[in-house]
Amino acid sequence: MKVVTSLQEMFAERRMLTEPVGFVPTMGYLHEGHLSLVRRAKQECRSVVVSIFVNPTQFGPQEDLARYPRDLERDLRLLAPLEVDLVWTPTVDEMYPPGYQTWVTVEEVTRPLEGAMRPGHFRGVTTIVSKLFNAVQPQRAYFGQKDAQQAAVIRQMTRDLNYPIEIVVCPTVREADGLAMSSRNVYLSPTERQAATVLYRALRAAEQAYQAGERNAERLRAVMRQVLESEPLARVQYVSCADFDTLQELDEVRGKALLSMAVFIGNTRLIDNIVLEP
Ligand code: AMP
Repeated sequence: MKVVTSLQEMFAERRMLTEPVGFVPTMGYLHEGHLSLVRRAKQECRSVVVSIFVNPTQFGPQEDLARYPRDLERDLRLLAPLEVDLVWTPTVDEMYPPGYQTWVTVEEVTRPLEGAMRPGHFRGVTTIVSKLFNAVQPQRAYFGQKDAQQAAVIRQMTRDLNYPIEIVVCPTVREADGLAMSSRNVYLSPTERQAATVLYRALRAAEQAYQAGERNAERLRAVMRQVLESEPLARVQYVSCADFDTLQELDEVRGKALLSMAVFIGNTRLIDNIVLEP
């Protein structure tokens, strides 16, 4: 497993890789969710590249950039047994040198949900992912369903910019009690960690209502809100029942839909979602 930092080394190593190349972009502090993407990439590709970069441009001014957890040594220890070919750890200075002024923006699909709550977030995501794509030039790139809107936005960007890259979206990996794995879970105190299970319980309750025949989207949102309100430590930012592709809120569920939410548990903002299949 080679570890490179500079763009120049990255380009040199990329030329040595056997195609198809699979790419897993991450912000590090790796957990089983990330590793599941790497394993999938290993199964499907001849070479695998993982990037670790806490991308400053996708964090809002009031967000957790400064305290986002980082531990490169630990990350490399977790990746080594998976036989990753190349780990790229770019620097902020090289990705965004002084005078940097080029941005990639995706329109409609970035507007609702996370885009509405985190202005500028997806502009940061699409810009860094396209810069990473340009350097890594993978045949396939792997993303988690955990960040459902991010996956939709990247799919749209890849289509719109004609990247010859297949976007593979992998299922959300959860803790035994249902909490979706996230690097941010380390922010939770033991009491908050317990309370954080309410997100998945709320999603499951709405999913069960759907399976029992409920198709009214507002009633499905109400089911989620009701479960979330039963947890005193939870502060709901949004709950959504939206069209899977456009992410527009639905009145009635007819095709594939996304139940999603953003909830503060104490000061920690968590997101989660479940897909409703028709
Ligand atoms: P991050 O390091 O949080 O930017 O995540 C890097 C990639 O891992 C993204 O494509 C995420 O959607 C994915 N990911 C994060 N958490 C999970 C999870 N619990 N299950 C599956 N994929 C995940």
